[in-house]
Amino acid sequence: MAESPAGTVFPATWEYSPAPESLKVEVPGSTKLFIGGQWVDPHSRRRFPSINPATEASLSQIAEGDAHDVDAAVAAARRAFKPWSKLPASERAKYLYRIARRIQERARELAVLETMDGGKPIRESRDVDVPLAAQHFFHHAGWCDKLRYAVPGGNPRPLGVCAQVIPWNFPLLMAAWKLAPALACGNTVVLKPAETTSLTAIRLAEILQECELPPGVVNIVTGAGATGKALVEHAGVDKVAFTGSTEVGKLIAKACAARGTRLTLELGGKSPNIIFADAAIDQAIEGIVQGIWFNQGHVCCAGSRLFVEESVLAEVTRKLELRMASLRVGDPLDKNTDIGAINSKGQLATILGYIDAGQKEGCTVCQPGAQALPAKGFWCRPTFFTGVQPSHVVAREEIFGPVLAVMSFRTPEEAITRANNTPYGLAAGVWTDKGSKVFDVARRLQAGVVWCNTYNQFDATSPFGGFKESGFGREGGVHGLAGYLAE
Ligand code: NAD
Ligand code: MN
Repeated sequence: MAESPAGTVFPATWEYSPAPESLKVEVPGSTKLFIGGQWVDPHSRRRFPSINPATEASLSQIAEGDAHDVDAAVAAARRAFKPWSKLPASERAKYLYRIARRIQERARELAVLETMDGGKPIRESRDVDVPLAAQHFFHHAGWCDKLRYAVPGGNPRPLGVCAQVIPWNFPLLMAAWKLAPALACGNTVVLKPAETTSLTAIRLAEILQECELPPGVVNIVTGAGATGKALVEHAGVDKVAFTGSTEVGKLIAKACAARGTRLTLELGGKSPNIIFADAAIDQAIEGIVQGIWFNQGHVCCAGSRLFVEESVLAEVTRKLELRMASLRVGDPLDKNTDIGAINSKGQLATILGYIDAGQKEGCTVCQPGAQALPAKGFWCRPTFFTGVQPSHVVAREEIFGPVLAVMSFRTPEEAITRANNTPYGLAAGVWTDKGSKVFDVARRLQAGVVWCNTYNQFDATSPFGGFKESGFGREGGVHGLAGYLAE
């Protein structure tokens, strides 16, 4: 038994024997760029390491694409556009079905690689990331020959060459979110993965080759911010799709506006999770925990602001502390792990900086885990703050880590006003036993997704996207197709 500063007595955490993933995945010592269906060395010959954030060991040297490589990739995508867009829609669909099935067949390998390169628990990459990536290709395969039902006027036309830049929090899944609708609509693509997590995108390129996708329909250029900048600013690009930080999103919006390039943006968030006193509290606790700890809080729609009705605040805080104490932080390849490694040293420093700032502002920090953390790697225990004011930095800024700000409210009006009091608007959660309250509150929340009595649920049929500074455009479902079709 252990006791927290707040006086909560924790039962001893279960000790489990290690349950490491047994599949060994071969990682090449260095990687190439995938341009026009060929694997090519980067023009500059430069490479940079991608590490395993749980061990800090280098996994591979990743090719760094520059403006020359981007040029070659855009040209390849341009050459591939006419034949690809003219292909009968049912033929295009066959490629997407094939890709989806091949992702399923290689699911375990992809899950292990995702966990090694990015640090997320194998349970999540195996049960969430990879199955959803396959689902996005299956779903969009079905749309290929039905696009005339998706647009007003019934005359769907592709846009051309799409530049897609994705982040490190869901590397394979974000690639699938971006590629599947673009291809279904008859576009060709140049995709740039995030610099810390390029390996599953490179495996996906191998899958595209196995599926005999025509050369140039998808090109993958790895690299960091400069590579992304060269891509989104390339004059030969007809559409840009970006997921990442609001800061970079604003730069891209400016560049695209100057050229009149079509753009969809999916940016940051500071999503509210609202717990009414009439909610099933134990279920809500699971939802709160899922909302902020899932993928180490590296989730743009993480439920990072918790609003609890005052009469149940003490109960919720106590139960939250107990539940968080039982979460297991450690080896992401262990099947019992709940919280894996923080994606990078830089991101860990950002998160720790916020935890420090919250304490300096006078919030009370609660980090209930007692388990020892591994000596190497980047780790952060699940954390929550109480005594938080709306003006505090931990209540306003996106932390992108497992750090929750707990606040209270008295009336539904107050909950809605405070939930909407943010420049972001990606997602929200509402927990109540009353159906009418769910609909009333959900309607008035400025958020692209509102989850009711659940949190962080995703599906290829459901549109995802933001209000305000969380971006514009939708991904997924029929709504997501609009971003890849001419008006
Ligand atoms: P970032 O926006 O810098 O990176 C996202 C992607 O954009 C990466 O592929 C990166 O290489 C690329 N990129 C960087 N600069 C670019 C530029 N000028 N032009 C074109 N592409 C560019 O995000 P980050 O630095 O990895 O993370 C910083 C913060 O962003 C995080 O702490 C988090 O708050 C937020 N973030 C949000 C999401 C999301 O899903 N919305 C994802 C990752 C990070
Ligand atoms: Mn990595």
